[in-house]
Amino acid sequence: MSEQKKISENRFGKKIITDIPEEAPLAHTPGHKLRTSNKIVDRVAISLDEIAMSPKDLLQPDELTIDAETTQEVAYGDQKGIIRGVTEEKSIPNQFTGPSYRNKKEKYRFDGHKMLYHLERIQQWQAGEKFAPIHIDMGLTKFCNEACIYCYAVVQNMTKGDLIERDALLRFIEDCGKLGVKSLGFIGDGEPTLNPALYDATVLAGELGIDTAMATNGLALDMDRAHDLLKNMTWIRFNLSAGTEEGFLRVHQTQKKHFQPLMEKIRELVRIRNENGYKCTIGLQMVLIPECYDQVIPEAELGKELGVDYFVIKHCSDSEYKEIGIDYKDYETVYDVLHAAEAMSTDDYVVQAKWEKIGAGRETALYKDGYRKYDVCYGTPFLLQISGNGKIYPCGPFFNKERFYIGDLHEDSFYDLVKGEHYWNVHQDVVNSVDVHKDCAIGCRQDYVNKFLWDLKNPPEHINFI
Ligand code: SF4
Repeated sequence: MSEQKKISENRFGKKIITDIPEEAPLAHTPGHKLRTSNKIVDRVAISLDEIAMSPKDLLQPDELTIDAETTQEVAYGDQKGIIRGVTEEKSIPNQFTGPSYRNKKEKYRFDGHKMLYHLERIQQWQAGEKFAPIHIDMGLTKFCNEACIYCYAVVQNMTKGDLIERDALLRFIEDCGKLGVKSLGFIGDGEPTLNPALYDATVLAGELGIDTAMATNGLALDMDRAHDLLKNMTWIRFNLSAGTEEGFLRVHQTQKKHFQPLMEKIRELVRIRNENGYKCTIGLQMVLIPECYDQVIPEAELGKELGVDYFVIKHCSDSEYKEIGIDYKDYETVYDVLHAAEAMSTDDYVVQAKWEKIGAGRETALYKDGYRKYDVCYGTPFLLQISGNGKIYPCGPFFNKERFYIGDLHEDSFYDLVKGEHYWNVHQDVVNSVDVHKDCAIGCRQDYVNKFLWDLKNPPEHINFI
């Protein structure tokens, strides 16, 4: 294709393509074609990067290197202007809209929300109707087989032996199906694989059309049920904040000897997924604390080697009393490490830091100097959280705060709770009485959703001038 390209200079002396080769592939979404009848081709396929690799007599690669972080002042006659760098790989991912020519698709949107895809629930909320949560995060147990030094569940009162009994769990999932809950995340205070009902609950949810996912340390994952999980779960995430045996021991406070078998398990899960064409996404997640700063790059490398789909690095949530002692300013000392890890992403492997929350000590779309950019928590009816003992609260940081207790899956029908009054009174109590700047844990799960709903509730002037 490159032989047919005609290269010219534009008025600023830059190399440009003036001839579109016949065989250039059509763009995947040639929307403009409808209006212009022009042929819209895939610009990436005829990009300057590709030209740079064409025969030397056409162009020298050096001539084409434009640094995206620099600008170049140009003059033409009496006009002055600026050319911005256009290097594709340095473009900033667009967090809140779909992909465009300049912004690569953000595959998972780890650092944001997906409320725009659930406008019917938002309309129900605006109309003051009762509605089912879009998503529920829930523990299946209240205990764990690791003792990670950052564990938020410790401030949620871990209680050895407490779990959601099988019958109560399956009844709850049936209620979710009846109510129209869209997804369940077995992500909670305890380790979900320590509840033997996990696997049947996942299969039942799949039969009822409810999406499921799980965050696990993986140590007790029953590989005999791997097919059931991979067939039914949308994603499985391994809580792993280390890329080496030493780091594993230091951060997760378990035994070194568990590290390699865990890696084998992840590899095997990826293999089974790939060989059977299951859609389940498999990833790793690090909770960032100073003790694992040196593990970021090793884990980014490890994830690639294991063949997982992503490695995400998140902030460490702290309680409203700062019981874990996270200093968000300290994260700034490893921003360069996080950027270096992100640069290890490929088309098949995403490495991403959750900057909106990691940067809470500075300013992000959600935070400024450690304070939220919203004053009221409206998000809990959309994204509910249930403790691993079956007790329901509006959110994880409020587990055990009896004022906000909604019910117990062992005693109450979730369907009846959502249709009843008490459930909604508790959510309203959160809206009316909680000071999110003082009463709440930094970086809570509902943050992104809360900010979106706050903006919706507090429009600027002149909204019709869109
Ligand atoms: S803002 Fe506060 S009340 Fe709302 S979900 Fe977060 S921690 Fe819970």
